[in-house]
Amino acid sequence: MSAAQASSESFGGRLARLGRMLGIAEANSDQSASFVEQAARETGNGRLSREVERRKTLYEDVGSFLFAHDLDLTPLNFGLALDYITGNDLAIEKAVRAILSDKGKLTNGVAERIIADQRAEELTPDTLHDMLEKVEENLNQLTGIADQSSNSAKDFGAALQKQAAELTKSDPGSDTIANLVSLTRTMIEKTREVEVRMRDGQKQTRLLQKNLENARKAAEQDHLTGLPNRRSFENTLRDEAAVAQRNNEPLTVAFCDIDHFKNINDSHGHDAGDRVLKFVAGLLAKISGDKCHVARHGGEEFVMLFRGMTVAEAAKLVDDARADMAERNLVDRKTGERMDQVTFSGGVADVFAYSEPREALKAADRALYLAKEHGRNRVYIARETDD
Ligand code: GH3
Ligand code: MG
Ligand code: MG
Repeated sequence: MSAAQASSESFGGRLARLGRMLGIAEANSDQSASFVEQAARETGNGRLSREVERRKTLYEDVGSFLFAHDLDLTPLNFGLALDYITGNDLAIEKAVRAILSDKGKLTNGVAERIIADQRAEELTPDTLHDMLEKVEENLNQLTGIADQSSNSAKDFGAALQKQAAELTKSDPGSDTIANLVSLTRTMIEKTREVEVRMRDGQKQTRLLQKNLENARKAAEQDHLTGLPNRRSFENTLRDEAAVAQRNNEPLTVAFCDIDHFKNINDSHGHDAGDRVLKFVAGLLAKISGDKCHVARHGGEEFVMLFRGMTVAEAAKLVDDARADMAERNLVDRKTGERMDQVTFSGGVADVFAYSEPREALKAADRALYLAKEHGRNRVYIARETDD
């Protein structure tokens, strides 16, 4: 459906259709009412349950968002609106927020691009990961077969050699016996050749396995800075949260974002921007170690995970790095021009103060947002009540 057709439909109609697609309400308002009433009866006091209220608000918010931006009623746009409003997908939420603060409005084309970018990011590493797993499995099988064949070839060779020895011991006058001996020797020779070829094959297989392992590591690494990427960080966060919970140890996450980075690109060019990114990455990586894991989340944003550290301890480390950065005088290597002060802001959150690690990451991002709002070049600790 085109945007023009979509906007000619009544808002109520769009909401009803939206509800059907999201599976939140029934096809018409009567059914919708009965769904609500039933839920209300279940609460026993006639009042709407909080869950119904929440879903109803969400349903209205998604509808209003699509309507406000005149977006086509497609499942992808619903998904985007839902991800933005709920913050379920941090990358989508950020991409939409950036467009809204820059341009004030989304269009179908921009929404499509955001979704496509997101998909490209999501699909590539996953597909690669699955692929690597399959190839590795095949290679393991191949190595097994090669080992097996090599063993049976060895047995075969030994048997032939034994027979050849017997034959040369008996009276060798006959040509037939001589030929048999020569044939046997040829066969032994061939068996040896096959063995050598198989051994080479095994070597190649092992080399391939090593290359695949390197490729797997590369899929979890950010090319520009060499730091782990978002995908790797999310896996680490999930794993470390499970370990810390088991051991009853604190765990803290931090989000850092370079201040006014767009200005750096605008004033000194994209390449200089890249060098600044690498510099900040290197500075943050300096605090990385057993207790701290640093990754590039994307763009000019970095995430950190502090094992066994309270939120206050971690915030101190991030703030020290921030102060260190703020004191640097960077020079554009190409032009020799001095750059304006480069700073970053940060948000820090206690992983276990939230229902799940992803929520803590979102809280750190909200704290970062507040740090930006209050002047940048500062680090804020998330409070559970921040919204
Ligand atoms: P704020 O202080 O609010 O964070 O402002 P900002 O300018 O840093 O933030 P904004 O989100 O407006 O701009 C981020 C810019 O970062 C826009 C984008 O072009 C740039 N950027 C993202 N990734 C890269 C990259 O890999 N290299 C370079 N050079 N620039 C990048
Ligand atoms: Mg940013
Ligand atoms: Mg920034």
